[in-house]
Amino acid sequence: MTNKEAFELAKRYMPGGVSSPVRAFKSVGAEPIVVNRGFGAFIEDIEGKHYIDYMLSFGPLILGHRNEIVVSKIMEALDKGNSFGITNLYEIELSELIVKSSKVIDKVRFVSSGTEAVMSAIRLARGITNKPYIIKFDGCYHGFSDSVLVGAGSGVATLGIPGTPGIPKEFASFTIVLDYNDEEALEEAFSKYKNQIAAVLVEPVAGNMGVVLPKESWLNKLRTITKENDALLIFDEVITGFRLALGGAAEYFGIEPDIVCYGKIIGGGMPIGAYGAKNHIMEKIAPEGPIYQAGTLSGNPISVASGIAVLKTLSSDISIYDRLSELRAYFTYNISQMLSDKGIAHKINEISSMFTIFFTDKEVIDFKSAKTSDTNMFGKFFRNALQEGVLMPPSQFEAWFLSTAHTKDIIDKSLEKLQKAIDLL
Ligand SMILES: *Cc1c(COP(=O)(O)O)cnc(C)c1O
Repeated sequence: MTNKEAFELAKRYMPGGVSSPVRAFKSVGAEPIVVNRGFGAFIEDIEGKHYIDYMLSFGPLILGHRNEIVVSKIMEALDKGNSFGITNLYEIELSELIVKSSKVIDKVRFVSSGTEAVMSAIRLARGITNKPYIIKFDGCYHGFSDSVLVGAGSGVATLGIPGTPGIPKEFASFTIVLDYNDEEALEEAFSKYKNQIAAVLVEPVAGNMGVVLPKESWLNKLRTITKENDALLIFDEVITGFRLALGGAAEYFGIEPDIVCYGKIIGGGMPIGAYGAKNHIMEKIAPEGPIYQAGTLSGNPISVASGIAVLKTLSSDISIYDRLSELRAYFTYNISQMLSDKGIAHKINEISSMFTIFFTDKEVIDFKSAKTSDTNMFGKFFRNALQEGVLMPPSQFEAWFLSTAHTKDIIDKSLEKLQKAIDLL
């Protein structure tokens, strides 16, 4: 079967042929590939063509595809059963690994996705503060739940849907959406909604409007203003957790949020999410406290075993982070050179092992400036690169990721391919 034939079949039985919108490659005007398998830094489609993968399942695969340690840990766990609905040893081990990697949390609760982690963190914040409003930032994505799919980036921005039909406006009315990095707007919101704001929810490094970095004082400002107003600070570290450092953005920037949300890397490619905080907050969750949150498959043994393998690998050699960062810097420096040689205006936002190339001459500091990027140019770049065998994220407003499977040789090979893609722009 060809990609085209398979995708036609997919469209017959699944809306748009996909299980998540951005996978349809719509915003980049490309025919989607259908995957046969992944190995290391590569994806192979069902026609046998190989692609160097910088999408990496949207972030979880920091060790690449089918990492040996991860696969064998999953097999070991699978041999004992794939779901119990009762506490298992793998779950305990992963919770310990996560808690010990972070200075800011004492306990974690596992859920099955990043979406659930954020939903639960918001309920917890509202339950503790007894206040209704949350602040989020335009372009930050926090999963698809009602209260946060407002001014959301990534898939929604790409498709140009304002929020989404299906959310009564009353539900969204407790969400205040501000511009990222805008301290003045933040102060205004806190004075306008005095004593009514339960929490500020933020991607400490935004990854879902493309990579957007926090201004020097931004995260500090979020910390102080929430403290002054008895609101909680929630870091959505679903991407940045174990991506920027073992202790995520909280460690990287030296900021102490009240609640941290995890997903992606902590499951190594298996479905998972988690949220953590200090004891005085976590003790409010049922069964210890009154705030209810539950899940049939939460703490699933296969997901947590997979996560154990990833986190143990990362924590056994934290020089991984420096190596990934150096490789990313080498990669983006060269991409930038090639684009400049061709006279193409661009800005690359980058940190650790993630980056985004924007086709604009503006500094990209929020969603508005991100949207100045020439998305037609991005689409063309995507399609040319795909043709050459490089798979980048299928939207301007997503991040490229590197994994430990991306060697210098593979990066150099990618640069050759991207040179051809850029020549054809
Ligand atoms: C991916 C993502 C989510 C949602 O996680 P899912 O597992 O897809 O539900 C939430 N927040 C951020 C920052 C993400 O990148």
